[in-house]
Amino acid sequence: MPYNKVMILDIPISNLSLEDFLERIYGELSSKTKNIFIVTANPEIIMTAKHSPSYRKSVLQANYIVPDGSGIMLASKILDQPLAEKITGYDLFHIFLAHASEHKKTIYFFGSKEGVASKAALNALELYNDFKIAGTKNGYSGLGEDIALEIAETKPDFVFVGLGAPLQEQWIADYKYLFPHAVLMGVGGSFDVLSGNSKRAPQFWIKHNLEWLYRLLTQPIRGKRMMQLPLYLMLVFKQKWKRSRILKKENGKIL
Ligand code: UDP
Repeated sequence: MPYNKVMILDIPISNLSLEDFLERIYGELSSKTKNIFIVTANPEIIMTAKHSPSYRKSVLQANYIVPDGSGIMLASKILDQPLAEKITGYDLFHIFLAHASEHKKTIYFFGSKEGVASKAALNALELYNDFKIAGTKNGYSGLGEDIALEIAETKPDFVFVGLGAPLQEQWIADYKYLFPHAVLMGVGGSFDVLSGNSKRAPQFWIKHNLEWLYRLLTQPIRGKRMMQLPLYLMLVFKQKWKRSRILKKENGKIL
């Protein structure tokens, strides 16, 4: 079923409330008619897609590109097309784990350094029981078809890929054909957080939309990536300006 999207720098972002989004995903998952590729988009992903046509092609293969973070919500407001709800990748990851537990689905954790995905899976089992861990694999022992086949053989219902952007979206786009009925989602550094290897921002920062600032202060190496943010906002304003010119032209206000 088609659904409403908001174009932000040529990337169609799903305009669905979390409830509607989950209803669609679980319906599609239980009908077992296709796989579902979810991208949790932030400004860095959008800017990478802007500069790399091949990455953009991978991202556009997603069934749902959800707004992960304040930068996307802000852009939708600037464009006067406010998105329904922010859907954060880490929260979505936990929602899916809880669903997998409730419905006895199998999960696979692929990515992060040796030992991290397996520790994260054990912690996930402690938090939510009853799902089956189809397997875990670190993200540094190959990303090719042989690895994808090995993962596919375990027939997971959910494949969480923690390789960071752009690798994770490229990997899913390349190999999702091997997972005809699974939900596949890139989860960035979520295994690091779930395993206890790194910490998510405290609630105060999350509540005030400052998780990005917390990450910048605790991991200054991210500074370079975040330099893209001002340019991202400039391009959003440019899109708004272009759109209003087109609308004015259509209304006959410009020759
Ligand atoms: N990673 C990986 N293989 C690689 C490169 C990265 O498994 O070849 C992992 C890395 O260990 C980390 C994750 O990908 O766990 C990227 O985390 P980051 O916090 O950068 O992602 P974000 O949450 O910002 O998307």
